[in-house]
Amino acid sequence: MSRVSGFRVSVSKDDLVFSSAHFITFAGHRCEGLHGHNYRVRVTIDGELNAEDGLVFDFIELKRIMRQLCQEIDHLVLLPLQSTRITVREKNDAVHVSVDGAPRYTFPRGDCALLPIANTTVEMLAQLLTSRLETALTSIGAANVTAIEMEVEENFGQSAIYTSRAR
Ligand SMILES: [Zn+2]
Repeated sequence: MSRVSGFRVSVSKDDLVFSSAHFITFAGHRCEGLHGHNYRVRVTIDGELNAEDGLVFDFIELKRIMRQLCQEIDHLVLLPLQSTRITVREKNDAVHVSVDGAPRYTFPRGDCALLPIANTTVEMLAQLLTSRLETALTSIGAANVTAIEMEVEENFGQSAIYTSRAR
């Protein structure tokens, strides 16, 4: 019998959290009001074992990167820049948000995270965090990582998982 075997490392620490405001649009005309979540993140990395130290990836480094990614969007209003229904415009130090063409909110620029996604669902946040983690891993030369699984939870028992695998 042949087997496929491998290693994974996972971190989900109490400090891998971000408390942010958002609202999402649904298919059709439905759109939520502004509200917040204490989001939690869990990340799992698949990779080849480094023969020298017996590690797939250093937990301390992984936690450091993930804390940084969470801090970038912590305590902010998360706004999508690629939505077809939500328009986000920066003017002076303010961000003006319209939904379906009607002005809805104005926020101080410093209180907003403008994100390159279509909707601030946990699915799209998980995909965005994965892409940012991939960029961070590439910049530190972590070439042995073969897959990343990112889980973002917005309420207890309510989360989305995004998986990215090297081909
Ligand atoms: Zn929500």
